[in-house]
Amino acid sequence: MEHLPVFLDLRDRRCLVVGGGEVAARKVALLRQAGARVEVVAPRLAEGLQAQAAAGEITHHAMPYAESLLEDAVLVVAATDDVDLNRRVSRAARARNIPVNVVDQPALCSFIFPSIVDRAPVTIAVSTGGASPVLARLLRAHLEAVIPAGYGRLARLLGGFRERVKARFADGRERRRFWERILQGPVTEMVFAGREREAAELIRRSLDDARPPFRGEVYLVGAGPGDPDLLTFRALRLMQQADIVFYDRLVSPEILAMARRDAPRYYVGKKRNYHSVRQVEINRLLVEHARAGKKVLRLKGGDPFIFGRGGEEIESLSREGIPFQVVPGITAASGCAAYAGIPLTHRDHAQSVVFVTGHLRDGRLNLDWDKIVQPQQTIVIYMGLTGLDLICRELVAHGLAPETPAALVAQGTTPRQQVLVGSLETLPSQVLEAEIHAPTLVIVGEVVRLHDTLAWYRRTEDG
Ligand code: SAH
Repeated sequence: MEHLPVFLDLRDRRCLVVGGGEVAARKVALLRQAGARVEVVAPRLAEGLQAQAAAGEITHHAMPYAESLLEDAVLVVAATDDVDLNRRVSRAARARNIPVNVVDQPALCSFIFPSIVDRAPVTIAVSTGGASPVLARLLRAHLEAVIPAGYGRLARLLGGFRERVKARFADGRERRRFWERILQGPVTEMVFAGREREAAELIRRSLDDARPPFRGEVYLVGAGPGDPDLLTFRALRLMQQADIVFYDRLVSPEILAMARRDAPRYYVGKKRNYHSVRQVEINRLLVEHARAGKKVLRLKGGDPFIFGRGGEEIESLSREGIPFQVVPGITAASGCAAYAGIPLTHRDHAQSVVFVTGHLRDGRLNLDWDKIVQPQQTIVIYMGLTGLDLICRELVAHGLAPETPAALVAQGTTPRQQVLVGSLETLPSQVLEAEIHAPTLVIVGEVVRLHDTLAWYRRTEDG
């Protein structure tokens, strides 16, 4: 190990920063975050530091550096571009056994600043021993992405129970087992979802009861339109905790592969099998497996609450008293629009957007056409392939010009994405001529014209 990572308590301790520029300002900010009493010695201060000095948040010694300033300092940072001065500061601090950091000059440092992931009170420090600060930053970004923002809240909650747990379990091993059980149960996710009170209640009950009442839970997760990169952090985390998976037709194999490896997967989508699983049956399966204590992952294409029947599924869960959480996903409209270069609203062309279903019931469309056909409004039609011809005719019959631009995006956001651009008049026949694979989304409105300009990079990429 090149350095020993330690966590210094700097609250109300005097820290000296030599230099008043931007680099110094960054170190000052960090030291202040740790509660230090910061003094800056520099003839002049950068703007931000000036304001802090004026507000009395830091002390400014408007003078050249002098060794006497080191008196009583517990930590020193030299951040000037004067190499000689930096060297003098370093030497003097070391002679007094005060930890010193000289920015960008590892040879003059007795300690280095790590890259920090701050989830106070949880703090993660990353260092490459000065070999490559950029690498440390990349690693930090990686950690930022996988460690939920709620970690600090979780640590605080657990901290609040420490004494009580100690009193309850005298034996250290028993205590550890208790905490492990708590952390592997639903408490963690409850806190991440902002349900601290429930989580605290669960810990309390577990303390009273030798065998805690851990139940299963259902995660209703939106998997986005296809590209696995469009999953949310929370979706991925819950996918990796699942004991069993029920997924829909629209969930791509790439995304399914990201669920926990040991979790059995069941297809409950419509249409692919001869026997499709009916909604009531899905509702029953979710309840049954959660009752058996499992973490049940219900994975749906796009967003669960947009044409996803997510509402019906959680209704039955809440009726049965099963805990659940819903994780939003990127809906097909957002995904397809972004990947096809068609903004759904635009200052000049569309001030509103409506999402409608083009699903036919008994060969008919049950839509409020007058609401849908509005000036400066983009219309997005889900499930509109079978009824496309009828939809286009109805839109014209209700007032849209036949030349109104319209696009069809098939298998949007996946490597197989296809975009057909035409008008209400031409799109149905364009679709007949092209070889199109479901799922498809239809976008109608002036914004479709922007596809040509905004998707230019795709075409140049294609050659
Ligand atoms: N809950 C989903 C929608 C389910 S309804 C969501 O929020 O996206 C199914 C319809 O969604 C399909 O018929 C199609 O119109 C649309 N759809 C879903 N994924 C799509 C994709 N990758 N490309 C184009 N359309 C898609």
